[in-house]
Amino acid sequence: MTAEITTPQELQKMDPVFGQLSFDNHEQIVFCHDKDTGLKAIIGIHNTVLGPALGGTRMWKYNNEWEALNDVLRLSRGMTYKSAISGLDLGGGKAVIIGDAKTDKNPELMQKFGEFVHSLSGKYITAEDVGMVTADMDTVRDVTPYVTGISEARGGSGNPSPVTAYGVYMGMKAAAKYQFGSDNLAGKKILVQGIGHVGETLVSHLCQEGALVQMVDLSAQRLEEVSQKYGAQIFTGDDMYSADVDIYAPCALGATINDDTVYKIKAKVIAGAANNQLANENVHGPILQERGIVYAPDFLINAGGIINVYGEIAHYGKEEALRRTENIYNTTLEIFNYAVQHQMTPQKAAMAIAENRIEQRRKENAK
Ligand code: NAD
Repeated sequence: MTAEITTPQELQKMDPVFGQLSFDNHEQIVFCHDKDTGLKAIIGIHNTVLGPALGGTRMWKYNNEWEALNDVLRLSRGMTYKSAISGLDLGGGKAVIIGDAKTDKNPELMQKFGEFVHSLSGKYITAEDVGMVTADMDTVRDVTPYVTGISEARGGSGNPSPVTAYGVYMGMKAAAKYQFGSDNLAGKKILVQGIGHVGETLVSHLCQEGALVQMVDLSAQRLEEVSQKYGAQIFTGDDMYSADVDIYAPCALGATINDDTVYKIKAKVIAGAANNQLANENVHGPILQERGIVYAPDFLINAGGIINVYGEIAHYGKEEALRRTENIYNTTLEIFNYAVQHQMTPQKAAMAIAENRIEQRRKENAK
C-alpha cells in the first residue's frame, strides 16, 4: 500500500486509523494520554515477525493529531524495512510525542511515557529520535528495561547519531561510485539539509574528505557554529532544491522529495539520513529514476543508529557496530545492481529484499 502524505483536510475525511493512507497492516497502535503530565503520545507497532518492534521516539510540535498519527504510521513501517534490510532480528515500531521538545519535555513526562512503553511488555522497545537526547532515554530506563540508546555510563551504547552519520557517509560513497564511477567525494559539491545530530557528523566526514559542502538549517546559529568548526559553506541561494550540486543529503525531516521539489532537483545523487524522504515512494521514486538521479534508499543508509542500539540487545560493542555499519557501502551497491536487474527503483528493490526476509521468517515461525 502507498505510504504518502496528504493534507490535514484530506486526512480528516478518512476513517480515523485503519483507513489512513499510511496505514499498512500495522499490528498495533497505542494512544497514550496522561492528564497530570500532559503526555499525548502514539506508539506504532508495524510488524514483529523478525523480533520486537524497535524504533525511536520523536517529539514534535505537530499541527494536529492527524499529522502525528500519519508520522508514526510512516515511521514505524520504515523501521520494519530498516531492520529487515540490515539483517537485524527486530521488527518495526516507532513512537511520537505531541509537543515542543524545547518547552514541553520534562522528566515526569518522559517517565510517564516510559510506563506506557513498559505496559507493552517488550513488544515495543524505544530509543532516541528527533527531539530526544540520550539523557531522556536514561529517564525512560528508570521505569522500563525496554529502551535502548541509553548512556554508556548506564551500560548503553550512547548517542546513536554519529554511527548513523557514518552509515549515511558509506551509503553516499556507494551511490557516488555507482553514479560517478568513483566513491571519492573530494571536490564534489554536496548540499546537506539539516545540521542536527546526524547532519553535523556527516558534514565533518565530508569536509575531511575534501568535499565542497554547503549547509541549510532553520537555525542560523547552528549553521555559523558548524561552518566555523569544519569550514563548510552556508547555502545562500533562494531555492536549495534547484541548487547546482552533485549530491543532495536530506538530513532534516521527511518528505522533502515531493511534487514541488522532484523536478527541480539538479543533484545526480540523493543520499541522506532523514526517514521517509520520498513523499510517495510509488510516484517520486520513479520520477527520480527517469531523471537519472540515483536515490540511495533512506532506510538502508540511515540504519547505523539502529545497528548501534541493537548492540545493547545482541551484546556487541561499538567496534562491531561500526563494522556492520561500514557494510552499508556494500549493501547499497548490491541494491543498485538488484534494482537494475529487476527493473525497479532502488527503494522498491530494498523493500523487496526486506519483504522476502520477513516472509521467510514468517514461514519458519509458523513451522
Ligand atoms: P536533529 O533534530 O538533531 O536535527 C534536525 C535538524 O534539522 C535540526 O538542526 C533542525 O533545525 C533542522 N531542520 C528541521 N527542519 C528543517 C528544514 N525544513 N530545513 C532545514 N533544516 C531543518 O535530528 P537528527 O537526529 O540529526 O536526525 C535527522 C534526521 O535523520 C531525522 O529525520 C531522523 O529521523 C533521521 N534519523 C536519525 C537517526 C539518528 O541516529 N539520530 C537515525 C536514523 C534516522
